[in-house]
Amino acid sequence: MITRRRLLASSLLTIPGMALSSEAASGFPWRNWSGHLVANPAGRFAPGSEDELVNWLCKTSGQVRPVGAGHSFSPLVPTNGHLVITDRLSGIVSHDPDTLQAEIYAGTRLGNAGAPLWQLGQAMPNLPDIDRQTIAGALATSTHGTGRGLKSLSGYVTGMRLVTPGGDVLDLDKNHEYLPAAAVSLGAFGFVTRARFQNREIFNLRTRTWTEKTASILDRFDDLCDDWQHFEMMPLLHSDYSLVIAHQEADEDPMPVEEEDDGGEFLQLIESTPVLLRGALINSLAGDIEPTETIQPSWQALTNLRFDRFNEMEYSVPVESGPECLAEILQLIKDNNVDVVMPLEYRIIDADDTWLSMFSGGPRVSISVHRLAHENFESLFNLVEPVFWKYEGRPHWGKVHSLGYSELRQLYPRLDDFVELQRELDPQGRMLNSHLRKLLRPMSS
Ligand SMILES: Cc1cc2nc3c(=O)[nH]c(=O)nc-3n(C[C@H](O)[C@H](O)[C@H](O)COP(=O)(O)OP(=O)(O)OC[C@H]3O[C@@H](n4cnc5c(N)ncnc54)[C@H](O)[C@@H]3O)c2cc1C
Repeated sequence: MITRRRLLASSLLTIPGMALSSEAASGFPWRNWSGHLVANPAGRFAPGSEDELVNWLCKTSGQVRPVGAGHSFSPLVPTNGHLVITDRLSGIVSHDPDTLQAEIYAGTRLGNAGAPLWQLGQAMPNLPDIDRQTIAGALATSTHGTGRGLKSLSGYVTGMRLVTPGGDVLDLDKNHEYLPAAAVSLGAFGFVTRARFQNREIFNLRTRTWTEKTASILDRFDDLCDDWQHFEMMPLLHSDYSLVIAHQEADEDPMPVEEEDDGGEFLQLIESTPVLLRGALINSLAGDIEPTETIQPSWQALTNLRFDRFNEMEYSVPVESGPECLAEILQLIKDNNVDVVMPLEYRIIDADDTWLSMFSGGPRVSISVHRLAHENFESLFNLVEPVFWKYEGRPHWGKVHSLGYSELRQLYPRLDDFVELQRELDPQGRMLNSHLRKLLRPMSS
């Protein structure tokens, strides 16, 4: 049986981190999760409290970048200045059983928040497909899961604490004018130390996976999104089929998860088959793939383990453009005989009113393209990226893309407001590495 776990295989491990002493000199390079981004920071600092962070910022000068779990594929983090590591700012700060809100330290991995929140009777309404990201890292890039009517994580933020690079501590409560900007900040405003979330009561999810022709799924997409609270499909390249992963709330108790057949043999067969014959092979076998079903607590059902590393490009397009954009990408990959085994990913996310959220202004579908980490991703990503542009695609801030300020300005009506606020909070430009300058400054400045 082929499973999502195997198809988008990856790993539990994160970046080769630092020991958690509060300050460390340079001497060893930093790498992101997939390994393609490398930096040689002048030093690393891991504050154990907000006060420590404030004192350190007031004593230092020069470029400084916050890092979470290093799971971004775009170069938001790399710096030759100092890296601020948030691992020691971890855990639940406080919770309110009446409003179902909880405040969580910025460096908490999503997966380390699930169980303690559950014990407090709370669950996040939606989650991305892994849980290794930190709270602040995930918010900074508008990280999302899938489900019609369900927003990205930033859409559920009701408050934040931000330390500016000058050492000022800002309490951004629900009505603060900066909150809709800071909820997707690209790590450009300063250091988030904690964030408050609107959660919901705990819930179990029935997860069903099956294979179906991509055209049939797209025909039924509206109904499927009605039937399943969280719905996504993963088109199998060169073939007519997709793998579907869908979750619906279940009244039943969780059931023990059986050891999965990881589909390794099936994938090896695909990999060892010449590209030109691959579609026919998958089409002939896809019907034999058994559906699976499990019931788990939401925070476990929605996230997966990763065994192999990869790089990823993802754009989101308006929901109505999704099918056409997807069809064009599938055809392009087929026409060019691109030898890629990892499937695409197609998800749906509701709108929020955060200035730089990929989903500001209306619901969107996201389409992701993957390439295993040891393979060169540039030719594939360069091939498909212009297709996204045709459909008003917005790049995922944390994934590979080539856009800069002038293009992003066309896609985000509030980009200039964001830039102005960034200058106000960081007048010396301490937070800006070369990638952020490309995103937030015109070419000449
Ligand atoms: C295997 C894998 C699966 C993924 N699945 C999904 C998915 O399902 N959905 C999705 O939307 N994305 C997904 N992503 C992308 C990922 O969620 C984002 O790139 C996310 O931003 C990574 O979080 P992080 O903690 O690793 O942050 P990092 O990558 O370390 O940093 C990201 C940004 O956050 C900033 N930052 C970190 N901490 C702070 C802080 N305390 N204060 C201010 N800024 C801060 C950094 O400076 C940087 O700008 C996936 C990535 C991988 C590798």
